[in-house]
Amino acid sequence: MKTIKGKLTVVYIALVMIILVVGAVSVLNVYTLGKSIDGLITDNYKSIDAVDKMRRAIDAQDRGILKYLQGEKEDAVELFYENNDQFNKWYYFEKYNITEKGEEDAVKKVNTKYVQFNKMLSELQEKDNVSANDFYKKDITPTLNELKTDLDALSELNEKAMFDKKQLTSSSAEHSIYIIFIVSISAAAVGLFLSVIFTNKYIRPIYLLINAVKSVKEGEVNKQAPIVYDDEIGLLAREFNNMTYRLYEFEKSTKGTLLAEKNRSTSIIKSISDPLMVLDASFKIKFVNDACESFFGIDEENIFNKHFLQVVKRVDLYDYVFKVVSEGSEDEGEIIDIKRNNKIYFFNVTTRPIKDKDLKIDGVIVLFKNVTELKQLEMLKTDFIGTVSHELKTPLTSIMMGVGLLKNNKVGSLNEKQLRIIETFQEDVEKLNELVSNLLKISKLETDRAVFDIEPCNILDVINKSVEGYTELLQEKRLSVYYELSENLPYVMADYEKVTWVLNNIISNAIRYTEKGYITIGAYSDENKVYIYVKDTGRGIPFEYLEKIFDKFVRVEGVQIMPESTGLGLSIAKEIVEAHGGEIWCESNVNEGSKFIFTLLIESRDNE
Ligand code: ADP
Repeated sequence: MKTIKGKLTVVYIALVMIILVVGAVSVLNVYTLGKSIDGLITDNYKSIDAVDKMRRAIDAQDRGILKYLQGEKEDAVELFYENNDQFNKWYYFEKYNITEKGEEDAVKKVNTKYVQFNKMLSELQEKDNVSANDFYKKDITPTLNELKTDLDALSELNEKAMFDKKQLTSSSAEHSIYIIFIVSISAAAVGLFLSVIFTNKYIRPIYLLINAVKSVKEGEVNKQAPIVYDDEIGLLAREFNNMTYRLYEFEKSTKGTLLAEKNRSTSIIKSISDPLMVLDASFKIKFVNDACESFFGIDEENIFNKHFLQVVKRVDLYDYVFKVVSEGSEDEGEIIDIKRNNKIYFFNVTTRPIKDKDLKIDGVIVLFKNVTELKQLEMLKTDFIGTVSHELKTPLTSIMMGVGLLKNNKVGSLNEKQLRIIETFQEDVEKLNELVSNLLKISKLETDRAVFDIEPCNILDVINKSVEGYTELLQEKRLSVYYELSENLPYVMADYEKVTWVLNNIISNAIRYTEKGYITIGAYSDENKVYIYVKDTGRGIPFEYLEKIFDKFVRVEGVQIMPESTGLGLSIAKEIVEAHGGEIWCESNVNEGSKFIFTLLIESRDNE
């Protein structure tokens, strides 16, 4: 039997058979018992009854003899014959109802005696009264007594047999009880045995399967359930095994891919020549590359799980990384210098947050891009520009003075033609002087931050002072000025002169690059900063130049370049604003106008 259904059927059939056997045994026993009770009544009881009736017939005949002896001969003969018939009737009944051993002999004995008795009766009729009486006493009565004794013996024989059978019936009833009891107990035992066998044998695979399912639930994905029988549970176990195998294969391949992916990422990171660190969300170091180990003189194993600050020991850098991660602010990189082995290194530090599947920040990558060489080149360039400008400044001043003297006829009068040449000279020399002044200014700003004289100042004063200087120019170009100034603007922490210079530069650009329309000057503040902006309706700046115009010597190409343009104004402005801890940027659309915005820190914050 391969299926559970088949097995169950076999067990049920076996149980039904057992019940049938118990029933059959019980029926047989009851039947045998009934039979023996039946024998008890029908055979022996009937014999006893027949003997009793024979006896009564004899008694009646005995009374008939007495009547005969008293002279009532007719009645006597009638009674005699009548009872003779009765006796014979029951005698023959008994003769054919012999059931016991010795019963036949007893019946024969009765018959012999009765024949003898009958003979005596015939003899009696031939005798006279006296001898008849005598004959009755001496011969008939003893014969009659003997006949009665024989009848008693026959009756006793049957009574005894009846008693014996009763005993036998009782014991066979007892026997039946035992048999039925034993058969029932055996049937119950066999039933129980079959149930236990069935449970253990056929239910066990289900428990094994349950255990396998539990193991898979606990993570042992390659668990195989044993296939004990080839039945439905076996089929289920086989399917389960297929499933877990596929699960295991899938996990193995996923793990393998992930591992390969991880190794690849690790190799890529390791091969990066700039120092790189991977931190978790609480800024603990999880990974550093070889360049990082060698630059900071650390060992990945020793610094694993240590806080970033514990290893890098730069609060400014930590603040920067923290700000980028916590505020999600855009990372433009931060230039920092780190001294190692008596040498100063410059790094452009950039951070990238690592996000988990719910886009929550799970960690951060900090890359230290080594820009030492670039920085050195820049310093060299600044130095060079500073030196050259400085060297040019003195001769330029004397040229300007000389040209001034010539123009004002201080060294003799000039004719018209000579005057125009000198005027052209003067324009070019002034322009050159402006350029040299700007170059000097920028190199000074870049090399020496101590040139700033920062103190609380009112931005409205700065605006008024700047606009004042351009009143004439504005009128000349027919440009109106509008103000968008918030009330109660807080004081800012600034170098008054330099911030005025920044605003002058922006306003002069707005006037220079706007042909018609108007200029709007505005200011507003938030918690930390004051925003100052200058908006024009001029030619605008193409998108790709919006950031570049703050670099040195950059001018928008393809448009008419103004004669005064040096491309240095905005880069100086940027230098100044950033030295104040502020920012400067531009929003613009070509042919619609530009808006230059810069920020300055408010006084209260600085004082905190
Ligand atoms: P410049 O001395 O050439 O004005 P700046 O650094 O001040 O130098 O400006 C750089 C360039 O930015 C300018 O040459 C000009 O092309 C562009 N620019 C600056 N301001 C404006 C403005 N308001 N509208 C249009 N273009 C501007």
